[in-house]
Amino acid sequence: MPLEYKMLPLQYDFFKVKLSGIIPNSRVFTDPLRTLAYGTDASFYRLVPKIVIKAINENEVRDILACASIENLPVTFRAAGTSLSGQAISDSILVICSFGWRDIEVLNDAKHIKLQPGVIGASANAALRFHGKKIGPDPASINSAQIGGIVANNASGMCCGIDQNSYKTLKDMRVIFKDGTILDTSDEYSVKDFLESKSEMVKALEVMIKKVKDDETLYNKIKKKYAIKNTTGYSLNALIDFENIIDVISHLMIGSEGTLGFVSSVTYHTVEEPKVKASSLILFEDIYEACNFVSELKHNSSLVNAAELMDRASLRSVENKDGIDPRYKLLDEKVASVLVECGATNKDELESKMQSVVSISKVHKVVEEPIFYDKASDYAKLWAIRKGTFPSVGAMRQSGTTVIIEDVAFHIEDLATGVVELQELFKKYSYAEALIFGHALEGNIHFVFTQDFSSDDEIKRYELFMDDVCNLVAGKYNGSLKAEHGTGRNMAPFVEMEWGSDAYALIKEIKNIFDPTNMLNPGVIVNDDPKAHIKDLKTMTAFNPIADKCIECGFCEPVCPSKDFTLTPRQRIVVQREIQRLKDSNDSRYKKLESLYKFDGEKTCAVDGLCATACPVDINTGTLTKDIRAKSGNAFSKKLASTISKRFGETVFLARQGFKFLNFIEFFMGPVGMRIIGDVIPRFPYWYDYMPRVAKYKKTQESQNFDKNVVYFSSCVNRAFGASKKAKDKRDINQVVESLLKKAKYNVIYPKDDKSLCCGVPFESKGFKKEADEQLDILLAQLFEASNNGEFPVLCDSSPCTYRIREGLKKMDIKVLEPIEFSLTYLVPQLKIKQSNESIVLHTTCSSKKMKLDEKFENLAKILSTDVTIPININCCGFAGDRGFNHPELNKSALTGLKEQIKPDVSRGFSTSKTCEIGLSHHGERDYSSILYLLDECS
Ligand SMILES: Cc1cc2nc3c(=O)[nH]c(=O)nc-3n(C[C@H](O)[C@H](O)[C@H](O)COP(=O)(O)OP(=O)(O)OC[C@H]3O[C@@H](n4cnc5c(N)ncnc54)[C@H](O)[C@@H]3O)c2cc1C
Ligand code: SF4
Ligand code: SF4
Repeated sequence: MPLEYKMLPLQYDFFKVKLSGIIPNSRVFTDPLRTLAYGTDASFYRLVPKIVIKAINENEVRDILACASIENLPVTFRAAGTSLSGQAISDSILVICSFGWRDIEVLNDAKHIKLQPGVIGASANAALRFHGKKIGPDPASINSAQIGGIVANNASGMCCGIDQNSYKTLKDMRVIFKDGTILDTSDEYSVKDFLESKSEMVKALEVMIKKVKDDETLYNKIKKKYAIKNTTGYSLNALIDFENIIDVISHLMIGSEGTLGFVSSVTYHTVEEPKVKASSLILFEDIYEACNFVSELKHNSSLVNAAELMDRASLRSVENKDGIDPRYKLLDEKVASVLVECGATNKDELESKMQSVVSISKVHKVVEEPIFYDKASDYAKLWAIRKGTFPSVGAMRQSGTTVIIEDVAFHIEDLATGVVELQELFKKYSYAEALIFGHALEGNIHFVFTQDFSSDDEIKRYELFMDDVCNLVAGKYNGSLKAEHGTGRNMAPFVEMEWGSDAYALIKEIKNIFDPTNMLNPGVIVNDDPKAHIKDLKTMTAFNPIADKCIECGFCEPVCPSKDFTLTPRQRIVVQREIQRLKDSNDSRYKKLESLYKFDGEKTCAVDGLCATACPVDINTGTLTKDIRAKSGNAFSKKLASTISKRFGETVFLARQGFKFLNFIEFFMGPVGMRIIGDVIPRFPYWYDYMPRVAKYKKTQESQNFDKNVVYFSSCVNRAFGASKKAKDKRDINQVVESLLKKAKYNVIYPKDDKSLCCGVPFESKGFKKEADEQLDILLAQLFEASNNGEFPVLCDSSPCTYRIREGLKKMDIKVLEPIEFSLTYLVPQLKIKQSNESIVLHTTCSSKKMKLDEKFENLAKILSTDVTIPININCCGFAGDRGFNHPELNKSALTGLKEQIKPDVSRGFSTSKTCEIGLSHHGERDYSSILYLLDECS
């Protein structure tokens, strides 16, 4: 029985009934937690859908549209929900088309790529990288934004300009219209059917096209508006750019924000990656000079791929970050910078481009002679400055405020004066913290400021400011109010102002031709309410300093193992914010949310913290979960944790005995039988196919007389769990380590009380911080002693434990390494290695990723094997320490798609964490073990 705040309106009940039997209930959500969480996007608007549906194929989308049509209910489509203008939200039916829509087909020698709408932009590029190609659109959100949203927003970024966006690089598209009609532009039969069945739509569009082509003023207006980036209104350029009506329709879909139909696949022309690149951050005496420099570059546009403007406030916002030139702090208040990138097919061409840029810059009052960097590691630092500007405002803002990013474009000749006048508006409305940066080469600039929406006065200030901005950009300079983020609800009231009544009439007519009943994403692009942009504003209630800086951008979602199962990090934070808001206003509905959050938010968070690696404001939602667990633990569990902590050695011993007994039963029942027992007995661990044997943890050290020493700490998990019964090598890991160290001529030193030591991870992950820290302190003291006060290196055989130990090491000088780094530093150089021909698959654990060891792991694996597979989009495995034994669904969801990516000839996988290996073996259907086993075999 779903827990609903209140009954659904009757039509929604009818809709649900119609849909039952078509879409399983497990993908239809009406409860207050999921509707709120899934309904949130990155904009500062909040609408909570009545129903959320995760649709996984075209038939389902068509059925949803048909049922909604009968009940006359609005439908909004959703990809990654990173939109900023309020176009991916709904208070009616939200259809998420992400899971199940992730197919990628690289076609015709990578000249083309066919993508489903749930493919993340960066995944498409990963599939093309090997061919030296990429997709054209390059929004800054490309690591999370999905193709459906990239196409429907006509998103673009630093390099793609107006020539490589979705509009310009579209080859083919498959669309589902409101009445279920499908048009596949790559299929002549589909086109023929469409032209016959939708002859009225075609006719209406042809009349409109003729009208525009006959009206010189309107025609020229459209031409001029698309000389710069523009995503305000529909892509009216489609009416004048194409002769073929099918091309007109497919290009009208670009940037239509889900208001004209559903894009079920897209085929792009791919674009070339430059073979060599170099970047320079050029400083100018003031922003006017910087803009004029960019204008001149524009007239020599083949010289640079990108020219990113950053005002003084932007530079100031990142001046304290690691790797930023300390001289930036001393720059004059008026200084502005332009970050340029040159790209070429060879070094000579690159050199000549760089020289030309330097010559042009010198005409424009540069602060110092520009320096170009052509080494990836060097120019990445410059781009980190640019990418850090927006998040830095988010991170510095006051709790409870929203960070707003606006997105306008001037014609290049107006850029300098337009930007200066914008800065005056910041002063007029007291947005002292506002900063300006952006893709100046296209006249496109973003300005970022913080806004409080909790009082009427503040909302008024925003409203008046935006009125002035629109008058300046669209009224005075005929620029674009939305250059790349889409119109949404935010600019819908200003579309007519920007376009004029003649063109606005076209926009309304287009909507009417495709969606006469206004069923698809109403309120977006076309909206008669002049105040729509200041309605349904989000509140950002402060609830916990760990996550109060969250800007709800959604960048953390792709890496989260629970994303397709329960909640993502962003959604966890959104729900916590709402619980706090309800509590603050004495609204008892928070209790329902809290009870639902227990499983969806708390229990199914793997606390791996991988989300922090993708978060622009460094939020670790795992830390938030641990905090929530700590606060919610009852007296009994606290007492139990304290007892276990004090008697950890005995606890591990008992656990091993218990596990030995279970191994014994499995001998008769098999894994399936064990799972049946688990279905009957509560708290019985989920039994995986590759469940390990109990480890003997026998130390076979012979007397060793080598010159060098290594301290070896075997984690409690490795002391308890040995190899699986299906493993090729059945030794315990400590025997493998001993063998390796002996071959590399190191004496092995075990810490004194090794059998009772623990780094504290099992306690910390459950919120028992005190016990976790006590365990860590004991361990560190013993490692310090065993390593002769830090003289000898320490090998820990598990990455998650090493990560935690290293966190504690801030207090102490000991060198603790996990298997990857230890192997590369201390073993590989000492061993004679024979590379194996065996094909293998790798899994890099979250902890290794957080320690930035991905590349090193790949290098190590390639030393050992000639054929290494690293599956894409498999991030955290979701086993989460021991949680995988109680919540196997999380592990299953996180590893969806793993097996399919492993080649048939691969029989073994390698990683660096025992519990992760249990789940990986089960879902990958091959035995996974520590990479140390392979190293021992090859040496
Ligand atoms: C920090 C930050 C930086 C950003 N930087 C940029 C940038 O540099 N450039 C840029 O252009 N944008 C940027 N954006 C905005 C946004 O990320 C992009 O526009 C992105 O392309 C949206 O993709 P999405 O998958 O999140 O789509 P969503 O937000 O889920 O949806 C976007 C629109 O597409 C519609 N839609 C989704 N799927 C379909 C479908 N299959 N068929 C039809 N309609 C569909 C939705 O209804 C909605 O109207 C940024 C956002 C953030 C938070
Ligand atoms: S946690 Fe970070 S990445 Fe995730 S939504 Fe919040 S700010 Fe964005
Ligand atoms: S800690 Fe892991 S499971 Fe939890 S929110 Fe972050 S990425 Fe998701």
